[in-house]
Amino acid sequence: MTGPALDFVIAALERIRQTSDRAPRASRTVLARLQAEVLQKAGTQPLTAPNKAELLAPIRERVRGCTKCSHLACTRTQTVFGVGNPDAELMFIGEAPGVDEDKQGQPFVGRAGQLLTKIIKAMNFAREDVYIANILKCRPDTPAGTFGNRAPTPIEMQTCRPYLVEQIEIIQPKVLVALGAAAVEGLLGTRGTMRELRGRWHAYNGIPLMITYHPAYLLRNQAPSEKRKVWEDMLQVLERLERPITERQRNYFL
Ligand code: URA
Repeated sequence: MTGPALDFVIAALERIRQTSDRAPRASRTVLARLQAEVLQKAGTQPLTAPNKAELLAPIRERVRGCTKCSHLACTRTQTVFGVGNPDAELMFIGEAPGVDEDKQGQPFVGRAGQLLTKIIKAMNFAREDVYIANILKCRPDTPAGTFGNRAPTPIEMQTCRPYLVEQIEIIQPKVLVALGAAAVEGLLGTRGTMRELRGRWHAYNGIPLMITYHPAYLLRNQAPSEKRKVWEDMLQVLERLERPITERQRNYFL
């Protein structure tokens, strides 16, 4: 049995073996691709390896019906799966939907989202070019009658993480950006201060990972120095993606 799907599985397992102390395993997604190729080789099916949007669709459905965190399932308006280009080179990972995202069913559409969209545009991408998802697919519940959002708990993040893992596995972006400490904790399971984590390259399953401040932090702390830090992190991302950077972009402040 040879072919791109098998090469894909071997490369993925090899990456896991090198970067993780857990035993490698193949996901449903990888197995679906493999199965499509094997069936095609056997002549039982035309070459119809599912595309990334098709691979994401059943996960979106599982998320839509998810009740693993029963307290969130009964307080959410809807789940917030993720948005953007399934073939994106660049994927942003946030923390959890807030009140606006819960209403609209899309990540990063509130005030922090508007700032993220501004950052994406300054990088010369459209929001539709990149992929945006959160660690949690449900809004963390808050006591009735209160305002604002709350941070996800470690248990909520552990419970929801497998969905994000599958999304990343399908999208296979060239670069990941984790926005804020909760996104880092949810993705890597490591806790640290943003001061020590941001501005340098990390890796998630062999994918380069840049850690930077969450846009909500920039809304709270309007100091130009903090905004510039985020922008410098994004310049590193552009360099890694081998995108041209103009002089105007180099001197830009958010
Ligand atoms: N903050 C996040 O981390 N994610 C969102 O989708 C919105 C705000």
